Amino acid sequence: MSGGTRVLVLNAGSSSVKYQLIDMLDGARLASGLVERIGESTGRLAHTPHSGDKRELLEVFPDHSAALKAVAEELAADGLGLDSPELAAIGHRVVHGGKRFTAPTVITDEVLKEIRRLIPVAPLHNPANITGIEVARALRPDLPQVAVFDTAFHASMPEYSARYAIDKAVADEHRVRRYGFHGTSHQYVSRATARLLGKDPAEVNVIVLHLGNGASASAVSGGHCVDTSMGLTPLEGLVMGTRSGDIDAGVVFHLHRVGGLSIDEIDDLLNRRSGLRGLCGENDMREIMRRADEGDADARLAFDSYVHRLRKYIGGYYAVLGRVDAIAFTAGVGENAAPVRAAATAGLEELGIAVDPELNSVRSGEARIISPAYSRVAVAVVPTDEELEIARQAFALVHRETGGSED
Ligand code: AMP
Repeated sequence: MSGGTRVLVLNAGSSSVKYQLIDMLDGARLASGLVERIGESTGRLAHTPHSGDKRELLEVFPDHSAALKAVAEELAADGLGLDSPELAAIGHRVVHGGKRFTAPTVITDEVLKEIRRLIPVAPLHNPANITGIEVARALRPDLPQVAVFDTAFHASMPEYSARYAIDKAVADEHRVRRYGFHGTSHQYVSRATARLLGKDPAEVNVIVLHLGNGASASAVSGGHCVDTSMGLTPLEGLVMGTRSGDIDAGVVFHLHRVGGLSIDEIDDLLNRRSGLRGLCGENDMREIMRRADEGDADARLAFDSYVHRLRKYIGGYYAVLGRVDAIAFTAGVGENAAPVRAAATAGLEELGIAVDPELNSVRSGEARIISPAYSRVAVAVVPTDEELEIARQAFALVHRETGGSED
């Protein structure tokens, strides 16, 4: 097997592929990019090499295979071709690992079959992930390909967190349980938060708030997830850009029986026309805050509902953990929206939680603490880096399997 130090990270969506080539010696990005609108009449590849200018390719990519071949050509043009002996592995983001995959896994035919078997619980994501894997394997059949699962970090949740309180036999038959998502981000951010506090992850309890367009919270104790807000699918939990988050399941029956909506229509409503967008017609937090400041009542309601749900999870996870060392905000909203961070933590001094308004308003791409020194709970902004985490996990696994020492 290869003795290289580079990992190509692939995140294949239904009509897009995001990629990063990372050198594990120092974590440097050698190249990154995005192919969009695969299978449509106008495709786009944006490629950014580490040294050099961003390049844009506007052409039709009929399928993922064509898209990945174009990516391989762009990488080769920078002297970073997939045939390079420096390439140690390809790391694939796979959304759903079910109960079986609780750690990064080298992809074999059997593993791929199992990921395919999980399609019914991740119909939107796993098929695209599988396509990415198949195409990458065809391009470099000799190279270790590693699946890193979004659900894996949450596999440590105790059974009472993971179970829904429904008939156990029915749940087991249909594999209905809380799997959680964004696990790679929660894992990376909880560890980075411990580092920011100058502590070992094993010593600290952290509430991680991953607030992107999709959003989830997790309670992490000593480096292990004990609860998370997403469930069987990424629909449960926080108010998100377009997803409702927690909802009385009775709403589904009502909309079907009384409202006459089909199951597919309800699925579309709750996943794509709810959350912030459902409440105010907009899912970008920047625009919502601007409108709310101008007195728009719907935007204000959307902001307040978003923050209210967040506060419920902070309080809930505080009680679950018993002692909280840090609350970490991450992803698009968490890293950038100071008013969300301020509102989510306001008035919680009795719980030992305070935010310094000046520190909170600083704009920075660095991990930083925004609580005053007297705050018993550190409040932090910690930029997430799922690609680096995927690369690390893939590299560590390949290294281990080839007899190298662990990082
Ligand atoms: P992500 O899914 O992590 O890329 O996050 C995307 C979301 O982050 C967008 O939909 C915006 O709502 C939000 N976002 C990005 N930049 C800002 C900003 N400067 N202020 C507030 N929200 C932001």
